[in-house]
Amino acid sequence: MKKTKPLYEGKAKVLWETDSAGHMVQEFKNDATAFDGTKHEVVQGKGSFNNRISSHLFRLLAKAGVRTHFVEEISDTEMIVERLDMLKVEVVVRNIAAGSMVRRLGVEEGRKFDPPIVEFYLKDDDLHDPILAEEHVRALELATPDQIETMKRSALTVNDVLGGFLKEKGIDLVDFKLEFGTKDEELVLGDEISPDTCRFHDSKTGRIMDKDRFRQDLGGFMEAYGEVLDRVSS
Ligand code: ADP
Ligand code: UDP
Repeated sequence: MKKTKPLYEGKAKVLWETDSAGHMVQEFKNDATAFDGTKHEVVQGKGSFNNRISSHLFRLLAKAGVRTHFVEEISDTEMIVERLDMLKVEVVVRNIAAGSMVRRLGVEEGRKFDPPIVEFYLKDDDLHDPILAEEHVRALELATPDQIETMKRSALTVNDVLGGFLKEKGIDLVDFKLEFGTKDEELVLGDEISPDTCRFHDSKTGRIMDKDRFRQDLGGFMEAYGEVLDRVSS
């Protein structure tokens, strides 16, 4: 399979068309962004870490029976994926209170949720990805009622599989974001699963091992990604 032309360049990735209509190359860039792109740095090695961590986690999910777009890791920074029609929603699962939930609801950071919370957000940078009630997702026809149920079920399965796997590696899965798309009417998990899109905390020390190191200027940003890669691939 050969890359032909870039179809979409976002903040963190480039999606390339290929000579196979049903497939794309997802290339991970070295750009780190936060706060709707207002904070931006180029960080050597980031694209490679995210591609390798994401590939590993997609393979793990496939083994557990989750339908994902992942086909094959083809280079340090690129994977082949199935081309999807992406839904305009982001699905967030929260096991432990952090980030926007703490800011929005005044919940104390670190509060545990069992069962976990599943939330929907509108994928719209201009509107700053606002949170949506399920009723909004339905009324705005961002997803059908069936797709909403499937996304919720699938997100909780991903949480069980990833959470259990990471626990064994000494990492707590605090929260994460997923994106789904459709292929021939089937709902498929797309995009990436990496320290850019998840919160990972060291189970023993609570040390932050994800993009919050960049968001909060904590230092040791790529060292943390390197350690996540080492642990998930060990
Ligand atoms: P952003 O658009 O938020 O800046 P990225 O740089 O991560 O984000 O861009 C990747 C884009 O590719 C996202 O819009 C995502 O929804 C889309 N995407 C992810 N997987 C697929 C896929 N399999 N087929 C088509 N588009 C995809
Ligand atoms: N997230 C993401 N992309 C987004 C928004 C959130 O990958 O556009 C991830 C984020 O990294 C975290 C989880 O989703 O793991 C929940 O993010 P939150 O709503 O707390 O927002 P943030 O604190 O990132 O503003």
